[in-house]
Amino acid sequence: MTTDFQATKDKFHLPAGMIYLDGNSLGPLPKAAAARVNQTVANEWGDMLITSWNKAGWMAQPTALADRVGALIGAEPGHTVLGDTLSIKVYQALAAAIDLTPMRKVILSDTGNFPTDLYMAEGLIKSLDRGHQLKTVAPDDIIDALDDTVGVLMLTQVDYRTGRMHDMQALTKAAHAKGIITIWDLAHSAGAIPVNLQGCNADFAIGCTYKYLNGGPGAPAFIYVAPKHINSTQPALSGWLGHAAPFAFDMTYAPGTGIERMRVGTPPVLQMAALDAAMDVWDAVDMQDVRDQCFAFSEILISEITTRCPDLQLASPRDGALRGSQVSFSHPEGYAIVQALIAQGVVGDFRAPNIIRFGITPLYLTQSDITRAADILCDIMANRTWDQPQFKVKSAVT
Ligand SMILES: *Cc1c(COP(=O)(O)O)cnc(C)c1O
Repeated sequence: MTTDFQATKDKFHLPAGMIYLDGNSLGPLPKAAAARVNQTVANEWGDMLITSWNKAGWMAQPTALADRVGALIGAEPGHTVLGDTLSIKVYQALAAAIDLTPMRKVILSDTGNFPTDLYMAEGLIKSLDRGHQLKTVAPDDIIDALDDTVGVLMLTQVDYRTGRMHDMQALTKAAHAKGIITIWDLAHSAGAIPVNLQGCNADFAIGCTYKYLNGGPGAPAFIYVAPKHINSTQPALSGWLGHAAPFAFDMTYAPGTGIERMRVGTPPVLQMAALDAAMDVWDAVDMQDVRDQCFAFSEILISEITTRCPDLQLASPRDGALRGSQVSFSHPEGYAIVQALIAQGVVGDFRAPNIIRFGITPLYLTQSDITRAADILCDIMANRTWDQPQFKVKSAVT
């Protein structure tokens, strides 16, 4: 397949004059999403009311739509389900993985992981109170830290700050050789880079759908459990919709069939309507084309900035093969620089302490967007435009 990026760009609403380099944090609005949500509100919620659970397919949506996400990450059909937020899915996956290696007490992660993943692990360890320990090492030291005390290796494939990418296949293989179960957080991978869960022999994977997949703010997370593990997975969050027979209203829990058991409670129907519209865009996209285009754009941005703005340090790996789909620079005044950029219509974001991030998302970006963004950034740096009080006021969300 050859992806028609002009056609995909036409499917998004982007405010006039804005260059949106923040699709790694919140993807833009697919034009069809508003009508799709409206239809769900008016025709289904409004007119069909409770019958929509059956007649409009609301109850089947968390698995049906999840399979469309699964197709982008190399999951077997029927092994991915949507619901809740990614933080919740971290907890579910970790609780399940811990039980597959009951004699081992170390959960290994890295210092580049997104904090909520580590926080959820801490919380789970505390409530289990079975002597588990969360160990974090530098991303490059993971291989050396795989030993027979480690039960679970829990990593985010692409670092949210620097875009550094782990070799999922090699690390999964190395982990398995030591009897370790793997959990891959694909928050910055799904819709960003080609992922092949089956090819990597991955055990568990989780991710969100509001970043690269463009499902909208609050869109549900996904969880994948490999076929070899699903029947021995005991859900820690044993909610009624993960029960074998939710409408039998039994007094005791029995896990549902296959991936259904990873459901918890009522699915977010309106959010799934928006995600459904976003997934329609992905149907005509080949992830390798996205990867190639992202690589080309990233190289342009990096070479422009590193040659013209010597004050900005590249924080991402220089080798594109080691990067996900974002390019980051560091600067002590990173926050103010990002605010000055936003004031000129270039939307990136800032991550403490000093990272300026740009998501390179070919579905709606063009090469001229990239060169224009580089021009504006270099102009801001050369003129110290960022050095004004209004750019230094911190908002709650950076
Ligand atoms: C974005 C992100 C999250 C966010 O979790 P939510 O529960 O959806 O807020 C978690 N983990 C990683 C690695 C992320 O990049």
